[in-house]
Amino acid sequence: MDGAMTLLERVSLASRTTLGVGGPARWLVKARKEAEILDALDWAAARGVPVRVLGGGSNVVVADEGVEALVIQVALRGRVARETAGTVELTAAAGEPWDELVGHAVERGWAGLECLSGIPGLVGATPIQNVGAYGQDVSQTVTGLRAVDRQSRRVVMLAASECRFGYRDSLFRSAEPERFIVLDVTYRLRPGGAPAVRYTELARHLESRGLAAPTLAQVRESVIEIRRAKSMVLDPGDPNRRSCGSFFVNPVLAAADAARVEALVGADAGMPRWPEPDGRVKLSAAWLIERAGFRRGERAGPVGLSTRHTLAIVCHDGARAGDVAAFARRVRAGVAERFGVHLAPEPVFWGSLGLDVPA
Ligand SMILES: Cc1cc2nc3c(=O)[nH]c(=O)nc-3n(C[C@H](O)[C@H](O)[C@H](O)COP(=O)(O)OP(=O)(O)OC[C@H]3O[C@@H](n4cnc5c(N)ncnc54)[C@H](O)[C@@H]3O)c2cc1C
Repeated sequence: MDGAMTLLERVSLASRTTLGVGGPARWLVKARKEAEILDALDWAAARGVPVRVLGGGSNVVVADEGVEALVIQVALRGRVARETAGTVELTAAAGEPWDELVGHAVERGWAGLECLSGIPGLVGATPIQNVGAYGQDVSQTVTGLRAVDRQSRRVVMLAASECRFGYRDSLFRSAEPERFIVLDVTYRLRPGGAPAVRYTELARHLESRGLAAPTLAQVRESVIEIRRAKSMVLDPGDPNRRSCGSFFVNPVLAAADAARVEALVGADAGMPRWPEPDGRVKLSAAWLIERAGFRRGERAGPVGLSTRHTLAIVCHDGARAGDVAAFARRVRAGVAERFGVHLAPEPVFWGSLGLDVPA
């Protein structure tokens, strides 16, 4: 180590994740400079130590035994905007708080991120699962990013077309997990652009406020209000606050499989279904979980479903990662048994939690 980075040992990860469970990191470096990330990689490579990357910890479940690895907590800050003909290219460092960036864009009248208001975490994680909500996802605005490629040990630029964005997915999540450490991300925004109101729930909320032609700021307010009512913003006073948001992604099925699920509940049950461009059909994981017999607020000891959102597994006092995993397995098995549908978890698991194997 060249003295530029501070290496911490046996550091609590529970306090660095929104679920608040899990054991310690054997080593942790909080990287405020890009050079510290490179130093940390050298340090780990010299010792054969595995590396994990942490942002705001809002989409990670850490196993109770912790991780025998060097955790690099990305804390790079800064943002730069370049105005070009009719667009703004906003580049933000990976450690910038995501919602502050959205607020900044909305204040300046730059459209493109407003529906992604209130999502916890940092900029660097937004491309990982192509963060999305209320009809927007970051693949619609990301033009490219800079990252350390751990294979070549070089800083590389990746264009959006190379990021293989999909529904809650990207190159960084499924194809090449852990290969790249994102340093900064560039979003192309529309100055003076109209807000995206594509989602019925959002349109209804705006309508209830008497806003026929809402501004970006009004859309941001509505999104945050809707999210708050579902405990989907981080609020220290909320008993549902210890979650990682949705625990499962909505399943996308072949049309015939979706029809089979619908036949099980009957055509008049009003099963939510969204056709995908490739002919498959996306179903609502929350709806399937409820129809499999799980109720909001249902508890299994110190963990349970959020009282306000069926898809969120929440922790209460005394919860451990093992409790979260056991409850998630129970929910997943219930849905598999009732509908033959396998629910894939949304968060990333550090350590063995027995959830990566199909039910
Ligand atoms: C209440 C709540 C609501 C949520 N709502 C939504 C929602 O509406 N839509 C949605 O998409 N998500 C949602 N999430 C999930 C989560 O907020 C997002 O996935 C967010 O982008 C995670 O950011 P983070 O910085 O906390 O990442 P972390 O949890 O720290 O990390 C997540 C993953 O990204 C990797 N990673 C993080 N930073 C980097 C980096 N710089 N380079 C490379 N890899 C990196 C980590 O290794 C890990 O694999 C919600 C979570 C909570 C708690």
